[in-house]
Amino acid sequence: MVADPFCSPDEISGTIFYSSRHMNLLYDIKPVVRGHVLFVTKRHVVGATELSEEEIYDMHKTLKFAVPRITRIYGDHEASYNLTVQVGRHSGRTVDHFHMHMIPRNGGDRFNRDENVYDAIKNNSTHFSIEDVRREVALLREEFGYKQG
Ligand SMILES: [Zn+2]
Repeated sequence: MVADPFCSPDEISGTIFYSSRHMNLLYDIKPVVRGHVLFVTKRHVVGATELSEEEIYDMHKTLKFAVPRITRIYGDHEASYNLTVQVGRHSGRTVDHFHMHMIPRNGGDRFNRDENVYDAIKNNSTHFSIEDVRREVALLREEFGYKQG
């Protein structure tokens, strides 16, 4: 994997399922739970404070559009989820390009037992295969009406 996959169209083409004006939505290649997705800026930005007002507005619009669709598929009846952004070497971030994790949560999931969601992200601790990831990408593309190319 290249150091910054989010600036490489070839790296993200297999997991993208929605694209707004300024954001790409990707399925995480190492999902910590089923339905773990990323909101990634199209522009190369590292920190949250570098986002422009227009990007913040677009991210909010994209959240309002996408989150209910994702929780409907993967969430529980309370539509529980975590949103998390890691910036900088000491935060546990793995890629220096702005991305927000959305992690659908369910009552019986691994993080309601003994694991910490941040450690799992940092360690790429997945219980899913690449075939599982491909299946979820196909499901989300169907849900979001995403056509490649
Ligand atoms: Zn980048």
